[in-house]
Amino acid sequence: MNQHMRPDPVAFIDIGAQRRRLGTAIDEAVGRVLTHCQFINGPEVTQLEADLAAFSGAKHVVACASGTDALLMVLMAKNIGPGDAVICPTFTFCATGEVVALAGATPVFVDVDETTFNIDIESLKRGIATARRLGLNVKAIIPVDLFGQAADHDAVAAVAQAEGLFVLDDAAQSFGATYKGKRLGTFGLATATSFFPAKPLGCYGDGGAIFTDDADLAEALRSVRVHGQGTEKYDNVRLGLTGRLDTVQAAVLIEKLKIFPDEIAARNKVAQRYADGLGDVVKVPVVSEGNVSTWAQYTIRLPGGADRAAFADALKSRGIPTAIYYPKSMHQQTAYRHFPVADGGLPVSERLSEDVISLPMHPYLEEAAQDRVIKAVRDALAA
Ligand SMILES: *Cc1c(COP(=O)(O)O)cnc(C)c1O
Repeated sequence: MNQHMRPDPVAFIDIGAQRRRLGTAIDEAVGRVLTHCQFINGPEVTQLEADLAAFSGAKHVVACASGTDALLMVLMAKNIGPGDAVICPTFTFCATGEVVALAGATPVFVDVDETTFNIDIESLKRGIATARRLGLNVKAIIPVDLFGQAADHDAVAAVAQAEGLFVLDDAAQSFGATYKGKRLGTFGLATATSFFPAKPLGCYGDGGAIFTDDADLAEALRSVRVHGQGTEKYDNVRLGLTGRLDTVQAAVLIEKLKIFPDEIAARNKVAQRYADGLGDVVKVPVVSEGNVSTWAQYTIRLPGGADRAAFADALKSRGIPTAIYYPKSMHQQTAYRHFPVADGGLPVSERLSEDVISLPMHPYLEEAAQDRVIKAVRDALAA
């Protein structure tokens, strides 16, 4: 390259590199669907559900149309509705709390832990008390495994058990991650994930899945997935959705799942090099003992007083894209401002929204590109 030319921009995520690696395997998988023409509920959907069950250790897997539907379908199958409260962290993607409101129930927002970005157990307890004081019937907790790392599921389970609540794990960003040596999919009553292309395991459109060991719940979810169908075709027994996963997307996911463990390992190598190169100048993400993250995002915290917008501009001028997850927590957003928050407020989430910034992260990020990111971060902070 001519030394006066700018180097190519670094990809924030690189779906194209993965596509090239998979090569004809994907073409052939999609080609098989185009040949058999069972675009809805084709054999690939059943195959994928079996593959995901084997991968996660969950007894039942119900593939569905998106991560949002995965969460909503569980709430629908459990008859969550008006008068009920569901506790969720506020520092998350909006779908976590949105599904609670869509079900007609009240999301009650609680704070997150400053080092893991995941649900804070003391705030969770306060949120349950707040909801009860407001006369709400607290039914469930939705912990989020944010940015690829599992929440503290043992601690969440202990609270849920003591309070008589069920747990719906929002693993939309972290399918494939492990908690104390076990992959996500078996913590709580059910786990929801997303196959949106930018998630660690993504398809070529929208998709999602629900994992559970509860056979009755799995049966109810299969009914909700198709408009609440019963055993008689035209007697629908509950409200439901058009919540199916397309056969074509299942075919894509079967192929992608085969290389997923290798991709998780590659993401962890990138994360380790970032931590080694940046740990002395910014707060790098902390992975709790016994956890393996899928690194949906590599989110750092800038030192106090740093100008985040100027920092992002400095990186951008060197071809390094960044993103802010999340500039506003849910309780700070227009559609969610009127919902209750845990007593004591949500100060950690509000602080995080001010100083977090996410760096390029994907399994195909080469060492030279990682070094460019590291150098750009260091130079921007030294300036
Ligand atoms: C992406 C995401 C969802 C929703 O998944 P979709 O497939 O986009 O509907 C839910 N929760 C979290 C935490 C997410 O990041």
